[in-house]
Amino acid sequence: MEDEFPFEISPMFEGERVRKGDMYVELAGPKSRGFELVKAVKMDEIKDGKFTLIGPDLSEMEEGARCPLAMVYRIAGELVEPDLEAIVERRNHDFQNYIQGLMHLNQRYDVWLRVSKDAIKKGLNSFEMIAKASMMLFKNELPFIEKIDATYITDLDEVEKELSKAMEIYNARDERTRHLHEEDVDVFYGCSLCQSFAPTNICVVTPDRISLCGAINWFDGRAAAKVDPEGPQFAINKGKVIDEIGGEYSGVNEIANSLSSGEYDRIKLHSFFEYPHTSCGCFEVVGFYIPEVDGIGWVDRDFTGTAPNGLTFSTMAGQTGGGKQIVGFLGIGINYFRSPKFIQADGGWNRVVWIPKKLKYMVSGDIPGNIIDKIPTEEDASDLESLKKFLMEKEHPIVHKWAEEEEAEAKEEPASQVPGPMSVQSLFQIPAVQMPMSAADGSGVKLIFRNAKISIDRVIVKKKD
Ligand code: SF4
Repeated sequence: MEDEFPFEISPMFEGERVRKGDMYVELAGPKSRGFELVKAVKMDEIKDGKFTLIGPDLSEMEEGARCPLAMVYRIAGELVEPDLEAIVERRNHDFQNYIQGLMHLNQRYDVWLRVSKDAIKKGLNSFEMIAKASMMLFKNELPFIEKIDATYITDLDEVEKELSKAMEIYNARDERTRHLHEEDVDVFYGCSLCQSFAPTNICVVTPDRISLCGAINWFDGRAAAKVDPEGPQFAINKGKVIDEIGGEYSGVNEIANSLSSGEYDRIKLHSFFEYPHTSCGCFEVVGFYIPEVDGIGWVDRDFTGTAPNGLTFSTMAGQTGGGKQIVGFLGIGINYFRSPKFIQADGGWNRVVWIPKKLKYMVSGDIPGNIIDKIPTEEDASDLESLKKFLMEKEHPIVHKWAEEEEAEAKEEPASQVPGPMSVQSLFQIPAVQMPMSAADGSGVKLIFRNAKISIDRVIVKKKD
């Protein structure tokens, strides 16, 4: 069957990138519109394998064009239920990346595809080929799908119309977990799909923490684990609560240890600084620590400017991804902002000091009323100076934290070293950092830096004589 396609299909193409210079056409993505959606329907509603295109086909698109694309699949089968829609939808990312010359990024309303010039030269000239290859993979890899059809839309007006309906479906899925919490369940769910490019990443999905890609919530994980217990989504017995506020559970630690091959053995689901959740690369939002104000900023994929630290989303995403625990950066799904446990170990919303305007608007209903106006966006603060000024003017809670830290420092320091009146400069130092080190005699020493700003131009490592 694969012979009918003018391209190869294999998981080995998953890491293939189609760079701008090699791209024939770009579909959806930040410069256009699009989405992907899977809907469960009854068996008699589907003609298996049917493909419908609304709008121009690939052969009608000019080289270098950026075009809208929506991909809607309908699935049916005895075991198919609406709870499986999100899980199946997420696999469109893998399966389309198996197609040589096609790059698929992100999920839901963030999808972004590129078709390479090479693929076009080899004969890829219709969306039907992509849809038929994708449907074949869905049925091969997810045997509970007995029938599938696909509708691709490239007409902008039609994409916009269907996108607003899709948004209602995504929102309804996310809303389901709102009244369920970690303390109400004994089982969480894990996902290891992204290990193909982030080998030590495990997404831990709880009622209070959606997956990093934002596509899989606790109900979706449950449905997937039920229908395919050996698949990439699996149950995690919660085990004992080790740290309620940080969100540390013995069952999560055990699974993290075994599935990361011992790379890490502790995860605190609601902590930014201590044993944070790993970040693969599919996250919808990156959180970044801003030492100058001791706060956390957040930036999403749609934000194309620079954050107050001078970095773009893509630069910070590069620092964050790869499946490691990176203290100082954290990838999350947007719906985690709506969780009452959102980074609760670090002060929750009181620690948030910057967020792009559009993202703030999206989650504004879940930002506590007493802090919402104190969190600046790109319109209020574009660099560190304007950020500090805004936070002080609005009396953001972090400003009180600076004062408390200064007071504690003053009490601890010998009289001769007590600083004078608090200067603006002194407020913006990093919090205390403790570095355990070994002394020459092996007894160990501990260096404590308080209110220190450290910059290192060069580190020289010399062999001990
Ligand atoms: S981001 Fe997490 S939940 Fe989403 S596909 Fe990757 S591993 Fe799975």
